[in-house]
Amino acid sequence: MHASAEPETGIEQELMETSPTRRPTVAALEALLNRPMAVLDHGFVRVIDYMGDDGAIVQAARVSYGRGTRRLSEDAGLIRYLMRHRHTTPFEMCAIKFHVKLPIFVARQWIRHRMASVNEYSARYSILDREFYLPSRKHLAVQSATNRQGRAELLGEADAAFVLATLRADAERCHAHYLELLNDPREAGGHDPSRQGLARELARINLTLNTYTQWYWKTDLHNLFHFLELRADPHAQYEIRAYAERMLEVLAHWVPLAHQAFLDYRLNAATLSAPMLAVLRRMLAGERVEQPESGLSKREFSELIAALGR
Ligand SMILES: Cc1cc2nc3c(=O)[nH]c(=O)nc-3n(C[C@H](O)[C@H](O)[C@H](O)COP(=O)(O)OP(=O)(O)OC[C@H]3O[C@@H](n4cnc5c(N)ncnc54)[C@H](O)[C@@H]3O)c2cc1C
Repeated sequence: MHASAEPETGIEQELMETSPTRRPTVAALEALLNRPMAVLDHGFVRVIDYMGDDGAIVQAARVSYGRGTRRLSEDAGLIRYLMRHRHTTPFEMCAIKFHVKLPIFVARQWIRHRMASVNEYSARYSILDREFYLPSRKHLAVQSATNRQGRAELLGEADAAFVLATLRADAERCHAHYLELLNDPREAGGHDPSRQGLARELARINLTLNTYTQWYWKTDLHNLFHFLELRADPHAQYEIRAYAERMLEVLAHWVPLAHQAFLDYRLNAATLSAPMLAVLRRMLAGERVEQPESGLSKREFSELIAALGR
């Protein structure tokens, strides 16, 4: 599913133009190029450009120019070996550039990933649109009692309606005051010629964190995997996870072999500590091990049990 088309600008048209290239391209990703993939209520992620493919990873690992001379199954085996053994530099040979539209509170989490190049829409230079993220009801939940960074059961209908009405009213009021502070003659309605307008770089401090911003975000495949391992994980906040899940779809189109290896050895895999492994060995030997005599903390023991699906 793609986000609704944005107004056509010169840049949009330029992005849709094609030209021949001698570089390797990936037909499945070419089909996605420049198309906004909808995320949350007003956000999107779209691929602007990319370099490399599964073959580039294999080629770097073999440090040869024998592209296409190996069978696909051998390439898959090599990529899976690299992923399993954290031989990461061949993955750095692939790079990708995304255009992302996201709420400011998601951007704050995202920007912590330093191994990427970012260029953000400037609210010193331009006026931010009146677009706010409002969670859908199925994501409005109470604070988790067991996980200080998480949510628990869903809010009841009346409480959810109160929350949504409050979020909407506050965001709209703050944005209306933002426009009033700017007092920009180019903004439709509300311009008061008898009053001075405030600079955009200061007026923006009145906006709520659910206001949408945009950026270009460029990284290599190794660092993208690191980002997705943390942000597509169920422990990540739903709103950033929604972006990570769309980016996983992009990976499935772009580097299908590396994507599958990533799912198998990183995202859906589990790491066991030495004490966890010792408990597992006792269990496999037929011993019934309870937490108090396991040598593991309650938390680590429950993580082990969850990883084992027991
Ligand atoms: C579920 C979750 C909860 C979180 N909670 C909090 C929180 O409560 N408070 C908070 O402040 N943050 C929090 N974070 C952010 C987290 O601590 C990291 O800042 C973020 O995930 C980026 O990870 P990173 O530094 O590995 O990534 P990147 O910055 O992309 O770096 C990638 C890798 O490069 C290397 N690297 C980069 N810069 C340096 C450096 N200066 N020195 C040494 N090595 C470097 C490291 O190996 C690093 O892993 C949370 C993240 C997650 C996923």
